[in-house]
Amino acid sequence: MRSEPLRGALFELEGEDIDPLTDTTLAEDMVELRRTMDRLEFQFSRRLRLFSKRRGYATLGFVSLISWLRRACRLMPGAAMQHSEVARNLPSLPHTSTALASGDIGFHHAAVIARSVTELGADAVAAEESRLVRAAHNLDPKYLSYLTRRLRYSIDPDGTLAHSNDQYDYRYVHLSQTLDGVFYLDGRLDAEGGATLRTALNALESNRLDERSGAMRRADAMVEMARKQLDAGTLPEVAGQKPHLSVIASTATLAKAPGAPAADLEWSQPITADAARRLACDSAMTRVVLGPSSEPIDVGRCTRTIPPALRRALVVRDRGCRFPGCDRPPDWCDGHHLIHWIDGGETALSNTCLLCRRHHRFVHELGWRLLWGDEGEMLAIKPELGIHGRFIPVAPPLMS
Ligand SMILES: [Zn+2]
Ligand SMILES: [Zn+2]
Repeated sequence: MRSEPLRGALFELEGEDIDPLTDTTLAEDMVELRRTMDRLEFQFSRRLRLFSKRRGYATLGFVSLISWLRRACRLMPGAAMQHSEVARNLPSLPHTSTALASGDIGFHHAAVIARSVTELGADAVAAEESRLVRAAHNLDPKYLSYLTRRLRYSIDPDGTLAHSNDQYDYRYVHLSQTLDGVFYLDGRLDAEGGATLRTALNALESNRLDERSGAMRRADAMVEMARKQLDAGTLPEVAGQKPHLSVIASTATLAKAPGAPAADLEWSQPITADAARRLACDSAMTRVVLGPSSEPIDVGRCTRTIPPALRRALVVRDRGCRFPGCDRPPDWCDGHHLIHWIDGGETALSNTCLLCRRHHRFVHELGWRLLWGDEGEMLAIKPELGIHGRFIPVAPPLMS
């Protein structure tokens, strides 16, 4: 069998005990494996080129090279097209071919350069090829593609304009909700739209290192962006009202009375009493009194649970989130009642503080407790895992 030597090498790799290897050795191994895969990709491309020229796929009953690649080589459509493009354009790229064949550049580098042949023509790329291959030695494929895009712009500004118009035409965002209330977001933006979004998200992402992943921080930043828009009150009215998030909850739910129904959040599923209490900590409230058959018999005025004057006093005193170690500014913060107003806590400076949205969740939904220390500092205590009722301080207090 023609691939016998490869099988032999794989058999050896499979038999190797990798557990005792150090991270350095593992890293070296993986880099070596990737280089070998890149060299194999070159061998794959040579064969694919010949196979395509002879229309081997048609002989085997396939309508196109792509459909053969997808079926026989188990590639996703995008990857199949990329392999076909590399195979087609490599013959006009001698420097790229040599570098890929020896593993000096990766397959994805070659794919970036091959793409520019499709976009700009072999002659235009030939003049720049050795420079691109040299750059590929030092840049990852994504940065190499910046270079080829610049090249494209200098050679073919009209084509670049058409390309960017195409990208704009394919923009979309899907926001879908599953039966259990979770939202999924997926979309595609053109370069300018994506850069705009990324700039705004970067500004809203906390640069503090915490246990959240980058993806989680991005998700929080996106929600924060929407919340800031809603809070600013500058969005157009919907059905005669400024858009806002509304929660319907009974007083029994807010008081966490046993057997009380869940609260309802607009666009979403029922939410927990803890989430409803957090939202009710600092929000505009309308009291609706229901009659015996649940018909509204009285609708009160809309009032803020933290009145504007108290909010201003909190901003002056707290200057941001009071959770120990947090430095989020007032703009990012909700007012929080240390003893919830529904439990009889006073809406006064002594019973309230500012908390960023994340730490506000810590307190209401994750079981953290806040209390004033002897010198007016805020202490955060977390229920010790497994032992009810005993609390341990976990963060040093931050003096105000
Ligand atoms: Zn609160
Ligand atoms: Zn905070």
